[in-house]
Amino acid sequence: MAHCIVEEAEAILDREFAVLDKGFIRLVDYLGGDERVVEAARVSYGKGTKSYREDAGLIDYLLRNRHTSPFEQVQLTFHVKLPIFVARQWVRHRTARLNEISGRYSVMKDDFYIPAPADIALQSRDNKQGRSAEPLDAGEAEIIRAAFSASQERAYTGYTSLIDGGIAREIARINLPLSLYTEWYWQIDLHNLFHFLELRLDRHAQKEIRCYAEIILDISKKVAPLCCQSFERHILGAVSFSREEFAELKRRLGRGDRAAGKTGAETNGNTETLSGKALERFEEKLQNGTQG
Ligand SMILES: Cc1cc2nc3c(=O)[nH]c(=O)nc-3n(C[C@H](O)[C@H](O)[C@H](O)COP(=O)(O)OP(=O)(O)OC[C@H]3O[C@@H](n4cnc5c(N)ncnc54)[C@H](O)[C@@H]3O)c2cc1C
Repeated sequence: MAHCIVEEAEAILDREFAVLDKGFIRLVDYLGGDERVVEAARVSYGKGTKSYREDAGLIDYLLRNRHTSPFEQVQLTFHVKLPIFVARQWVRHRTARLNEISGRYSVMKDDFYIPAPADIALQSRDNKQGRSAEPLDAGEAEIIRAAFSASQERAYTGYTSLIDGGIAREIARINLPLSLYTEWYWQIDLHNLFHFLELRLDRHAQKEIRCYAEIILDISKKVAPLCCQSFERHILGAVSFSREEFAELKRRLGRGDRAAGKTGAETNGNTETLSGKALERFEEKLQNGTQG
């Protein structure tokens, strides 16, 4: 089949979805959708499945079995406005193509990110990379927000006075903070997008980049709903177990080595096979479905 038109995706082309206080994401273009994944897979598997249900089954099969190349046939191009500290995390995903606004060529806009009060928290005690789940009280958060605002204003005033004095834009910009917004076009295929989303929707990812990942997933659902459904089922919603954890799981379920006719306890003993942090992580997986 020739060019693939997905009505739901057409309906949101060019629409800006707001993210954070001043950011946005918009779908600039797309190539392919669920149908293209199915077609590409059929080239290798031969013609056969036809109905919507069968197509959904085929997509689910491909994703479940990591037959990932048909998903690379779908491409999405986004226009994103995001703070530089989010961009620095984002750009680590190398399997995409991007074009960013040039601070050497253009004068940067006076757009800075200031976190909402609910997003301002103390350093987490148990996660060296994160913030506490409890936000500061509203009064303290407002003081922090005012401090951010004042220093951003100072930085931008310094920047414009250098520009006005004729200093090169590429030098004038170097004192601008990570909270400054930048913009880029970002193009990625669906397979690599799922990898990005898996990492950046995870609770370990920073809240701000997670906000972008959530919108990107919503947009991707318009382009390839069945693929996204399988992604949510088999990757986002899945938890994997190490060999030791799996042995412990079988022990608890009383399942052993069926071929040898042994129960879980006979195979793995009557006492827990995990201890300490490993046991805590395992319990956490069972309780909350969190990977660790
Ligand atoms: C919660 C979190 C915390 C992080 N903390 C840090 C940190 O403290 N410091 C830090 O430096 N980074 C950090 N990162 C970034 C992380 O290490 C990865 O660089 C980032 O997530 C991109 O992952 P990736 O390389 O798998 O993705 P991509 O670059 O999109 O690559 C996808 C896959 O393609 C393959 N690939 C791509 N390029 C190459 C290549 N050149 N050679 C070989 N294989 C390749 C790999 O299999 C890779 O998994 C963090 C990431 C997350 C999600």
